[in-house]
Amino acid sequence: MLDTAALRAKYNDIAGGEPEGLWFGPGRVNLIGEHTDYNDGFVLPFALEKMAIVAAGRRDDDLLVMYSLELDDRVEIALSALAPGTGDWSAYLAGVLWALRTSGHTVGGTNLILTSDVPLGAGLSSSAAIECAVVAAVCDLYDLSIEPMDRAKIARLAENAYVGAPTGLLDQAASTLCKEDFGLFLDCRTLEGVHVPLPMSEQGFEMLVLDTKTPHSHVDGEYGARRKSCEQAAAILGIPALRDVTDLDDALAKLDDEVMQKRVRHVVSENSRTLEAYELARQGRLADLAPLLDASHASMRDDYEITVDTVDLAVETAKAAGALGARMTGGGFGGCIIALCHTGSGETIAQEIAAAFAAAGHRSPEWFIATPAGGAGRLA
Ligand code: ADP
Ligand code: MG
Repeated sequence: MLDTAALRAKYNDIAGGEPEGLWFGPGRVNLIGEHTDYNDGFVLPFALEKMAIVAAGRRDDDLLVMYSLELDDRVEIALSALAPGTGDWSAYLAGVLWALRTSGHTVGGTNLILTSDVPLGAGLSSSAAIECAVVAAVCDLYDLSIEPMDRAKIARLAENAYVGAPTGLLDQAASTLCKEDFGLFLDCRTLEGVHVPLPMSEQGFEMLVLDTKTPHSHVDGEYGARRKSCEQAAAILGIPALRDVTDLDDALAKLDDEVMQKRVRHVVSENSRTLEAYELARQGRLADLAPLLDASHASMRDDYEITVDTVDLAVETAKAAGALGARMTGGGFGGCIIALCHTGSGETIAQEIAAAFAAAGHRSPEWFIATPAGGAGRLA
């Protein structure tokens, strides 16, 4: 649990007085739809109870004063000096103020004291959690009326242009738009989002999220290579994006390169699995999501080739220990897995994975049971 008393005390130390309020942005996990976003496809994330919280208040001057409880670091910058590419952790906060100003909104000096329990760099989007919390805070403080999807776009602009990370809208849309006990089915072409019920506990299930703690290596290069392969395939097929493939066999027949065929098969099949998952969830058939999770993992392992030993071991052990379905979630080459489990069994399954990791000489994983939570807003 995050210590909001410590956050308020720190605000007092740094800014003098009480914050005007506390705002939060949740982390998120992707239920299904991996590497489909940049192919104009579909994704289905849900927000987590793990979140970033900012204690915030306006200032009389034009300074942005930021502090992270976790890093014990204070950064200060004048609003007029905000410029993309100023790299440390504070860019995720400062970038939002910059993005708001760039989009024509009037904002003034602000104190932002941050704490977060979203694990960093595990693929649970600690970055979007921060951005979306800051958007919520600054919109309330400066009376900006901005629609939820536009808030997500402001947060993405901060991450893309200010931080310099070329990500899609998935993370920020999930962190802004999600509802408790719902997933967010997002069409990455039209940017239309639909809430879809995920009443897991009601149906006797829980979702284990396990961080394999595998250090990512070569992720950026591999990500770039996958993207390029998809773009090249779409160009050969004469379609705007792989989302537009209507007949997979026909598309594969038109591609000579075996690696490219595998990449296309992943993207197209993952897109149909995500659509199918959306339909099943709409019908309340959560148990039937399990085979889709398994198929998604196999596709990421064999066709997209973005899993690693630890991730495969975690998924196999989860299944052997009784999970209904399991898959890697996130961009790949490490990060987290999710496992759909019967209520009360997630902890045992996680311990079996931890034992398998110990036996194989891997680092100890960390885990929690995830419940679909609500999107960014005011906490207090
Ligand atoms: P992810 O979003 O998958 O967790 P990113 O690399 O996109 O990984 O974002 C992680 C970055 O966000 C960190 O390197 C750090 O700069 C910033 N960050 C996350 N949590 C905190 C925090 N509590 N305090 C300061 N910066 C943080
Ligand atoms: Mg991120």
